Amino acid sequence: MPTISPNKPYRVGRSRTGLGLFATKPIKKGDKIIRYFGPLLDSKKKDEDAIENKYLFELTNRWTIDGSIRENIARYINHSCRPNAESDVRPRKRKVFIRAIKNIEPGDEINYDYGTDYFKAYLKPIGCKCDSCERKRKKRRAEARAERQRLKEKAERKEKRKAEKLAKERAKARTKVKAKSNGVKANGKALNGKHLNGHGPTKPAGKKTASSKRASARALYA
Ligand SMILES: [Zn+2]
Repeated sequence: MPTISPNKPYRVGRSRTGLGLFATKPIKKGDKIIRYFGPLLDSKKKDEDAIENKYLFELTNRWTIDGSIRENIARYINHSCRPNAESDVRPRKRKVFIRAIKNIEPGDEINYDYGTDYFKAYLKPIGCKCDSCERKRKKRRAEARAERQRLKEKAERKEKRKAEKLAKERAKARTKVKAKSNGVKANGKALNGKHLNGHGPTKPAGKKTASSKRASARALYA
């Protein structure tokens, strides 16, 4: 890792995608953090125009900074779709500074938006790994999980209702069969003659309730 003066408010450290630049001191919104620098490439010169790497910073149609040199610590700054810094481009001076657009706390990773061209060329094909995109991905995954769970529970409830309905129908069918067989038994008992003499053991005449008396009376006059 590159050595950086302890006076600087940043250090190079491990980030999700490899290395990144992290604040070591509070950085105020609007503060210049670091300069993005390197040899200037002139697009009018064929050999310079042919140079390709991930650290090219286009200043104007003609001039591009080649930031791939080791001394350019700013090249460690990763892209973010919701950054805490921005590139402050001074085309006339052919200079680029990275400037805080939020208050940055020690330990925070410093990020800026690399711009649409870079995003399309390098990040979109592999999927942007910035915090914001990771959070979005996580949220989408959680939502998909919740949806799968919801559908599973719905299917389970449906299965349960089906099973309960089936059990009810079976129970109903069983009681019908029982009632039928009970009927046969009752007839069998009746046929043994015990109840035919009028004073069976179950309902002695003296213990009849008033309502049943009335009922028998009604039956008599019907
Ligand atoms: Zn992103």
